[in-house]
Amino acid sequence: MNVTIFDHPDTQEFLRELSGLNNSAGSARMKEITHRLMSDLFRAIDDLNITPDEYWQGVAWLNDLGAAGQAGLISPGLGVDHFLDERLDAIDEALGIENPTPRTIEGSLYVAGAPESTGFARLDDGTAEGQTLVMHGVVHDAQGRPLPGAKVEVWHCDTRGFYSHFDPTGQQAPFNMRRTIYADENGRYRFRSILPSGYGVPPGSPTEKLLSALGRHGQRPAHIHCFISADGHRKLTTQVNIEGDPLINDDFAYATRDGLVPAVRERSDEESIRANGLNGPFAEIEFDIHLTPLVDGVDNEVNEQRRRAAA
Ligand code: FE
Repeated sequence: MNVTIFDHPDTQEFLRELSGLNNSAGSARMKEITHRLMSDLFRAIDDLNITPDEYWQGVAWLNDLGAAGQAGLISPGLGVDHFLDERLDAIDEALGIENPTPRTIEGSLYVAGAPESTGFARLDDGTAEGQTLVMHGVVHDAQGRPLPGAKVEVWHCDTRGFYSHFDPTGQQAPFNMRRTIYADENGRYRFRSILPSGYGVPPGSPTEKLLSALGRHGQRPAHIHCFISADGHRKLTTQVNIEGDPLINDDFAYATRDGLVPAVRERSDEESIRANGLNGPFAEIEFDIHLTPLVDGVDNEVNEQRRRAAA
């Protein structure tokens, strides 16, 4: 027997009342969204016969999730971040905008305020183990021309899978493996660092508990995050995956996209080593970036809500 009360006039009136639709204060948009989400929840409780035990287990999980600061971690895990990207892609398609460099999710570990330089930066401070990486490319404007002065923000984790500012061992200095590089007069950016490793959600965490209940893992392939911005263009949020990582097509955060897995070339010849000011073999990634124009003079996809000021 499954008793449902969602369609009762009393329930419908109750939803209007609890969403503030019966008063004139507050935010009309917040009321609209709350009314829809609460209606969907009530309907799901009815349709799936969700028990009070199951519901309160969910509330306790939300409390644990918030206390652990992991709302921004389960969000990509449940595919919302990727869904928002797919929607932006669809909106661009409707507007006739092509994205030669695909967008993909930001993740939750960007920190504003990284050291800035022009043309080149070294991201690591030399204390971490790892294979030397040189990544470089040209930033292009919406017409495909090199774009001097474009701002390239990069951040990645170390070979233990930890980001500076979020390193549970406290081992990394602030802004280690985080830099802002302005493209040089030829639109070129270049940086030296170490190849990052993949990483996973914290063991035993609320995020891992839900993923386990879904029969899923919480691991990501190795990747490097980027924001690229310039006057007159939309800010691009993307990531490149490190070619060869076994999880490239099995990312719990669903960030992998065609066009974002550039080749990793092993360089061991003296000429390449010397040209990069190094003293041994290194991995090289070339990744050119194409920005897209503003839409009616504005960036229709910029998202400032998540900017986290440096501690
Ligand atoms: Fe990441």
